[in-house]
Amino acid sequence: AKRQGRNTYRFFTSQMQAQSMRALELENALRRALEREQLCLHYQPQVDANTGKILGVEALLRWQHPKLGAVSPAEFIPIAESSGLILPIGQWVMATAAQQLKAWRDKGLLHLTMSVNLSARQFHQPQLPDLVRQVLEQANIPAQVLELELTESAAMSEVVAVEQTVAELQKLGVRLSIDDFGTGYASLTQLKRLPTYKLKIDQSFVRDMDNGDADKAMVNAIVRMAQAMGLRITAEGVETQEQLKFLQALGCDEAQGYYFSRPRLPHELEPFLLQDSWK
Ligand code: C2E
Ligand code: CA
Ligand code: CA
Ligand code: CA
Repeated sequence: AKRQGRNTYRFFTSQMQAQSMRALELENALRRALEREQLCLHYQPQVDANTGKILGVEALLRWQHPKLGAVSPAEFIPIAESSGLILPIGQWVMATAAQQLKAWRDKGLLHLTMSVNLSARQFHQPQLPDLVRQVLEQANIPAQVLELELTESAAMSEVVAVEQTVAELQKLGVRLSIDDFGTGYASLTQLKRLPTYKLKIDQSFVRDMDNGDADKAMVNAIVRMAQAMGLRITAEGVETQEQLKFLQALGCDEAQGYYFSRPRLPHELEPFLLQDSWK
């Protein structure tokens, strides 16, 4: 038993070693990803749940490495966060997304909003409002069309510490969305303290609606709460017409998901944007 135990332990450590080797390799590669132009943004439409009209897009980061191939954000974002690389990368994302929106505005799409994901690290930078202001000025877009998406857990950790930042962002006029809503631990009190514009129901809830009444009741409760608080509500990860029908019946404002479109490159998405409605 003892020998077996030791073998198990050895197996375990070599697995951990392989994992941390991979993480180190990715971190080193990520350091050069920006300058080597390996990063790009895809955009996924956010549509009016009732009409299918495209209201905005969310920028989603993609990394294509010559040897490692396409690395998933689920793998490299946590590494970018722990290494601090998310600060320059996040800044690049915001600036690039703003420039893209400007290009679309120049083609007449003045109503279109741009959502950008912010990591907790970025949110806790005291200079964030200045950085956002610079991005808006350089792209020459109004603050109201820029939405910053913060995960529920990032938004609610140390709400007090970011109160100043939040107040400045609000004064600027950019909108704040709470991402992955329902997966964190936001209390109503915390939620009330943040000038939130929109809640995005996490895709796990949308997926689980197919399982039956208890999960539907959960989504129903989130929508009712958002309505009571005067917040807009978006359902993420909508993949089927059944899901959309149910979300419409509940009074969800917006929907996003493969049912409408995968995230796409700007030139792939543009015809649909100019056509204005998904259907
Ligand atoms: P998220 O912000 O919750 O983004 C939604 C994720 O769900 C995206 O995955 C999107 O491609 C995927 N998705 C959209 N519709 C559907 C659907 O109908 N079904 C399913 N199964 N998935 C759908 P992606 O692009 O792999 O991004 C994963 C996460 O990485 C994002 O989750 C976000 O937290 C993070 N992320 C991506 N880009 C950035 C970025 O620029 N900055 C930061 N800080 N995080 C980012
Ligand atoms: Ca998001
Ligand atoms: Ca989300
Ligand atoms: Ca997510």
